[in-house]
Amino acid sequence: MIARGTTAPKRKLHPHGPTLDTVIIGAGQAGLTTSYWLTQFGVEHQLLERRDSLGGAFQDRWDSFYMNTPNLALDLPGMPYDGDDRDAFISRDAMVNLFRRYAELIAAPIHAGVDAARLYPAPLMVNYAPANVTS
Ligand SMILES: Cc1cc2nc3c(=O)[nH]c(=O)nc-3n(C[C@H](O)[C@H](O)[C@H](O)COP(=O)(O)OP(=O)(O)OC[C@H]3O[C@@H](n4cnc5c(N)ncnc54)[C@H](O)[C@@H]3O)c2cc1C
Repeated sequence: MIARGTTAPKRKLHPHGPTLDTVIIGAGQAGLTTSYWLTQFGVEHQLLERRDSLGGAFQDRWDSFYMNTPNLALDLPGMPYDGDDRDAFISRDAMVNLFRRYAELIAAPIHAGVDAARLYPAPLMVNYAPANVTS
């Protein structure tokens, strides 16, 4: 896929810009766990996150917000819950920090501050040659 208007590094020479085989839009909990599994299976990918900060939608919760799901639900692939009270409920800020820690632990390839507006399928590269090349 081609991600236009992003800061993603060029991976392949291509007449229409940088190409990536796999792009995850959004580095919230869904994007990060998907990134974890793609890495486990050796699939090169990039996460594009429109916010400048990590923590997904939990950053939009009110200051006094506490999760309504207990800590036992905080097991993430590759990062099991490591606190001491699986029946307690963590705060918004603790939740945001959890996902920031997770992103770092799994070395998620994130481009933050990138709003993915469109993805285009990459044209077939086989036999590509500029039109003005003569042999
Ligand atoms: C009031 C409230 C309370 C909640 N309480 C709980 C709870 O206690 N426990 C619980 O498990 N769940 C709770 N949830 C649900 C939880 O917030 C969501 O399930 C969770 O955030 C979904 O994660 P996600 O990764 O799918 O999406 P998000 O967390 O929304 O992450 C998506 C990310 O994608 C980015 N993005 C979107 N579009 C683009 C784009 N075009 N280009 C680049 N980046 C983009 C966004 O900036 C965002 O960071 C609650 C939800 C609400 C509304």
